[in-house]
Amino acid sequence: METYIPISFLNDFIFCPRSIYFHQLYSNFNNSIYQQSPQLLGVQSHKAIDEKTYSTSSHILQSLDVYCEKYNLCGKLDLFDCNLGKITERKREIKFIYDGYIFQVYAQCFALREMGYNVSNIVLHDYLHNRNYPIALPENDLEMFGKFEKLVSDINSFNLENTFFTPVLTKCENCIYNQLCDYSLC
Ligand code: SF4
Repeated sequence: METYIPISFLNDFIFCPRSIYFHQLYSNFNNSIYQQSPQLLGVQSHKAIDEKTYSTSSHILQSLDVYCEKYNLCGKLDLFDCNLGKITERKREIKFIYDGYIFQVYAQCFALREMGYNVSNIVLHDYLHNRNYPIALPENDLEMFGKFEKLVSDINSFNLENTFFTPVLTKCENCIYNQLCDYSLC
């Protein structure tokens, strides 16, 4: 078990705390064992960034490893424009702006600020429709900032064996681990 919280866990934990267990368990396996087509398409849409070929400009940081000491969060950000202070998090398709998407960019924002960068602008980018969705900075949305801090606290205190848990059918139906999970309702 990592001593830090991977940024991707923020979204996974909101979806289902048990999915983090499977994420950890299968992280060393070939993704094709458990990832389904939407996840694999998502990986494809990140290819240029993961390979750092999206931009040749030196002020555009691509696929940057970031760590936030305050919240003990670690992960990657897609794009950061140092000149504009702008974080861009790319999703293959955005049908709804889930809280987890916002918490993910908050984590990136806090990490970059600890590294000394000025973050003044955050957008989520829908790759399929080439559309940007602006996200308020955490200091300008105190309700979401409070939810972010509670989520980090909940993840830190969650215990797979001892924390009461009830699966939700609609989530299990859309869960990439539903063939592997003993709590699955499918
Ligand atoms: S199958 Fe259901 S209970 Fe199991 S990890 Fe997925 S969403 Fe959670």
